Amino acid sequence: MRRSIVAILLIAVMTTASLTAFAQAKKAEKPEKVRDVVCGIMVDKDPALSVKHNGDTYYFCSKTDAEKFKKEPEKYRKKK
Ligand SMILES: [Zn+2]
Repeated sequence: MRRSIVAILLIAVMTTASLTAFAQAKKAEKPEKVRDVVCGIMVDKDPALSVKHNGDTYYFCSKTDAEKFKKEPEKYRKKK
């Protein structure tokens, strides 16, 4: 009886350890995030939602924010 409890505990510990390793590996391969200067949240570098301005590329959470930036880039650039 004791043995099976030990075995279960061992499996539980091993599962937790491998899940932790998996979570860390996932985190490591996540793409770099950048700040959406319009609303301030962190976004993925999505080329479809990017705007080039003065040689810099800015990324946004939505087309709406990209358009806002295009209209008044200086307003948002100063917030940096
Ligand atoms: Zn946004």
